Amino acid sequence: MKVVYISPEVVPFAKTGGLADIAGAIPKYLQRLGIEMTVIMPFYNIIKKSQYHLTKTDIRFDVKIGDNHKSGNVYKGLLPDSTVPVYFLDNEQYYGRNGFYNHPGTTKDYEDNSERFIFLCQGALEVIEKLNICPDIIHCNDWQTGLVSVYLKTTYAKKECFRNTKTIMTIHNIAYQGLFWHWDMKLTGLDWSLFNWKQLEFYGKLNFLKGGLVFSDFITTVSKTYAKEIQTSEYGEGLDGVLRDRAEDLYGIINGIDYSIWNPETDKFIIANYGINNLAGKQVCKRALQKKLNFPERNIPVVGMITRLTDQKGLDLIVNRFQDLMKTDIQFVLLGTGEKRYHELFKTYAKTFPKKVAVKLNFDERSAHEIEAGSDIFLMPSRFEPCGLNQLYSLKYGTVPVVRCTGGLADTITDVRSEPILNGRYNGFSFKEYNSDLLLATIIRAIDLYKSKDPWIRLMTNGMSQDWSWERSAREYITLYETIVRRNI
Ligand code: ADP
Repeated sequence: MKVVYISPEVVPFAKTGGLADIAGAIPKYLQRLGIEMTVIMPFYNIIKKSQYHLTKTDIRFDVKIGDNHKSGNVYKGLLPDSTVPVYFLDNEQYYGRNGFYNHPGTTKDYEDNSERFIFLCQGALEVIEKLNICPDIIHCNDWQTGLVSVYLKTTYAKKECFRNTKTIMTIHNIAYQGLFWHWDMKLTGLDWSLFNWKQLEFYGKLNFLKGGLVFSDFITTVSKTYAKEIQTSEYGEGLDGVLRDRAEDLYGIINGIDYSIWNPETDKFIIANYGINNLAGKQVCKRALQKKLNFPERNIPVVGMITRLTDQKGLDLIVNRFQDLMKTDIQFVLLGTGEKRYHELFKTYAKTFPKKVAVKLNFDERSAHEIEAGSDIFLMPSRFEPCGLNQLYSLKYGTVPVVRCTGGLADTITDVRSEPILNGRYNGFSFKEYNSDLLLATIIRAIDLYKSKDPWIRLMTNGMSQDWSWERSAREYITLYETIVRRNI
């Protein structure tokens, strides 16, 4: 079976969030299980300037953006530790800049994002055709790839290469939909008749993700709970009706994590490796982290957080009760970038509580590993969380997650209270309602249990022994691919 996987970001080449981790991993695992995989993504500046071994192919392609022809070159590389080819679509005007979606250091979107991703969607189809892949499935990810299935079912419908091609749209976060003013319809080259409330229109705007949801043969998202949640008005961000219409073709598959990158036994970023049978290294990592952050080297819980600083991640709950949190005997470290107001707030906290609070307001892979390894507790009180990766990394690193019970957090974290103590599945702490009192009470429950050595170690090792690898998710995707290919629609 041939599958083309299109994603706006792929680890290690370009990453802003979890999607990149997934796109860098799942094609490798699918390939190992016998699927012929190809990955397509934009050739951003950061990749151009990098040391990756990429070669320029002789493929050139043209895409019509409105009345203009835009052309692109194609570079080729491999996903590390695999033979999966990655094709990078090169166009200096669209991708030759330092940000991916917004002006660097701001949350301001690039003004020409619709053009940039129309170019990706059509460009990917052009390149697939030129490579003569004729895929069984094109697997699209998030709004940036939403128009692929729209083109396939309209302007590309008669192309021989795509005669048997089915499409899957995976939603990694329904809060990001690719909304543009209606005149951008002209740039897509699609017929205006598609601009109606059942297809591409969304309250007067052009919605790329909606296009993907309406036109794809199948829709997946990254946890079973999130698949249900997004069909409700509370979580659906206005697309819940579309998803309810397509409920039969909507399925949740939880993400895995890449244990070749996120494993404390082999992690190259951390000062001491450790594992379930040798926990000493974790203590070394904790001490190193405390030292680095100028915290007193005490045996109190280090509470870590690594996150985009947006409302989604439950930061308002933390901010609401921060003063109370500071009355507990903990050390708190935050690594994140995002909204300016959170940058300011957390900077102030770090200044006010220098022995208890440290913040790093940048994107830093090494620090992420050091914090996972050196913390005792990991906080993820998300308002919504399609899957969440950090709680899974935390489990592997023996860093006990405290989460709000939503989306993938609900599917992966089992509260210590929720099962008889001898049943080994419990692995963290969770609370249900989005409420700062409950968050505080749950953190305090964790701090209390931390004081009892054996139950705490049991909790850590429960999490460390669980398997959240990609092999499991990859098998589910293959079953789904086979079902879709067999379906005659
Ligand atoms: P989301 O995709 O919503 O941002 P996930 O938990 O699914 O959330 O994935 C976030 C990914 O991005 C994780 O791999 C996490 O470690 C990483 N990450 C987030 N912020 C930072 C940061 N400031 N520095 C390094 N890694 C980060």
